[in-house]
Amino acid sequence: MKAPGYRLLPLKVLLVLALLAAGIFLVLRPGYQHEVELQDRARQHRMQQLKIAFDSFIQQRRHDLEVLVHSPALALYLNQNSNFHADLAAHTFLSVSALHGHYDQIRFIDNTGQEQIRVNRDMGYSYLVEETELQNKQHRYYVQAGLSLAPGEALLSELDLNLEHGQVEMPLKPMLRMVEPVFNLKERQGIVVLNIYGADLLENLQLALPEAHEVVLLNARGGWLAGGGDKDWQFILGGPEAYLSEKNPELWQHIEASEEGQVTHAGDCYSYRWYRAEGRQLQAPRWLLAERASGRACDALYTQYRDHGIGLLLFSAMVSLPLVLLWVHWRHRYSHARQRTEMSEQQLRLITDQVGQALIVVDGQGNVSWMNPEAERVLGWSEGELSGRNLHQLVHVTSDGKMLHEGECPTMLTLRTGQRHHTEHSLFRSRQGDILTVRLTVTPYGNALERGAILSFSDNSQNTERERRLRHQASTDELTGVLNRRATLARMQSLMDTTGPVGVMLLDIDLFKQVNDNYGHAAGDQVLIHFCRTIGTLVRREDLFGRIGGEEFLLVLAESDPQGLLQLAERVRQAVQYSPCLMDDIEVPVTVSIGAAVQQGEEEVDTLIARADRALYQAKNQGRNRVEWSPM
Ligand code: GH3
Ligand code: MG
Ligand code: MG
Repeated sequence: MKAPGYRLLPLKVLLVLALLAAGIFLVLRPGYQHEVELQDRARQHRMQQLKIAFDSFIQQRRHDLEVLVHSPALALYLNQNSNFHADLAAHTFLSVSALHGHYDQIRFIDNTGQEQIRVNRDMGYSYLVEETELQNKQHRYYVQAGLSLAPGEALLSELDLNLEHGQVEMPLKPMLRMVEPVFNLKERQGIVVLNIYGADLLENLQLALPEAHEVVLLNARGGWLAGGGDKDWQFILGGPEAYLSEKNPELWQHIEASEEGQVTHAGDCYSYRWYRAEGRQLQAPRWLLAERASGRACDALYTQYRDHGIGLLLFSAMVSLPLVLLWVHWRHRYSHARQRTEMSEQQLRLITDQVGQALIVVDGQGNVSWMNPEAERVLGWSEGELSGRNLHQLVHVTSDGKMLHEGECPTMLTLRTGQRHHTEHSLFRSRQGDILTVRLTVTPYGNALERGAILSFSDNSQNTERERRLRHQASTDELTGVLNRRATLARMQSLMDTTGPVGVMLLDIDLFKQVNDNYGHAAGDQVLIHFCRTIGTLVRREDLFGRIGGEEFLLVLAESDPQGLLQLAERVRQAVQYSPCLMDDIEVPVTVSIGAAVQQGEEEVDTLIARADRALYQAKNQGRNRVEWSPM
């Protein structure tokens, strides 16, 4: 089975990749958006330039047409119809042709379709066509359409190829025609027709664009007019790719659906807009005006950023994945090592629990860092209570209960010298204040810089149940079962050593002599037992209560607040008063006087008890059944 660290490895790798991808996306996105915006604006600008170039081209031609349609010479010719006026009108046409050089032909065609005036331009020269060469053009579409226009209206033809005698003129000569009718006294007299070089228009459009962009022009059916390479004019010349609408209907549908946009076609990006030449009462066809960026798809920027992002992701993955793998590997090794440590700790604990020997580990200062359950059992302290506290000061005592001098303590000696020490009779004081004789071995560990010690000991004094019973008897008052005087005082000393300031109450039963006198000594004994039970209901397990005289008792509490102490004393007094001792249906009333005192600083057991005794004396003096307090 795989270790948990490795089982989740694919997930971790995926997570790292996802984070990297998200980071790269966030870093690249603003730049991409900015560039898209710039490109968009540049494209819109170019399309606008294209439209302006187209519009201004058409407007100039329209202007020339107006000049001719409304020329006085033409009006005179139409009114007088003399040779002289015909010449005059023809020369006006010739002037416009020569002046601008834009027109392949300028003609006046009468209502029957017959050319009346025609100025041709060839090889840079304008000339009047002989009367004998003038033709009837009534069947041409622009003539018919022109003759149906109202006054002031004009017509712009499709861009198509010039025909000569029914044949397409070679080389190809794209041509636009602009037609406007001529009216005299509200009678239509004919039309003026301008044949405009398509090449001029395309050149003008191309000049409006930057070099890398090529003008593309298609008619409304999708026939290629310019920018299509081989496809141009095929819809007239005949060819397989004549119309984009037939070649690629789907694309054409897309283009037709919106006024302007962008499409990628054959690897090139086309930006387009639908265009119709604008002018006063001008009928004009619709064209698809476009520009082409060759060899570049419209989403080239996106592709570029995407590839850049993928490259970055691959690179950062190459850098970071080995680190992730290393990290997972080390984590795995670490957790494996920790598991092993925990297991060996468990084993060690099991061994030390079972060994039957009390074990305590202390640091270089002699403070407890670990102990086993046997040590807890022997000393009565839990590991939590002793942890971090100085073992020697707390438990090591002389036979009369005083703290043992450090110089005689085997633990402190071992810590100082690094030597192993053993003694058969060390005296330890338990949490309950009992003094135990232990067989102790202290073994050093670590080095001179950082040394600790392991104490191994066993209780020499309480090996048997009998001894334990004897020890219990030795500390218990026979009549009442509470602690006797010696045990009370020893434990009070222990409590003061370990917990800090204590509070004491000295209790003396009032006029007890009279109880004996009135009810007999045996009844007196019962009263003492009853009294102890009453007190027993009020004190906690950690408090000390013992009989230190005939009808005198001592209560020691880890309570250094005088207020709390006095409240408890008052409760004790009342409890005694209101629970008289019942004997053969006779109620023996009992009251108690109490002297209370709180330990001041390092105050000794004797002086503290003496102060409580003085307070008790006062309580007796002031009428008994009361609590008095020793302030100092
Ligand atoms: P005070 O209120 O001043 O303390 O009066 P008291 O009579 O209690 O004080 P006193 O010291 O005069 O008397 C104490 C009596 O307690 C004397 C003694 O006979 C009695 N006594 C002491 N120990 C025992 C005992 O174990 N059993 C019984 N029954 N009486 C005891
Ligand atoms: Mg008394
Ligand atoms: Mg007394």
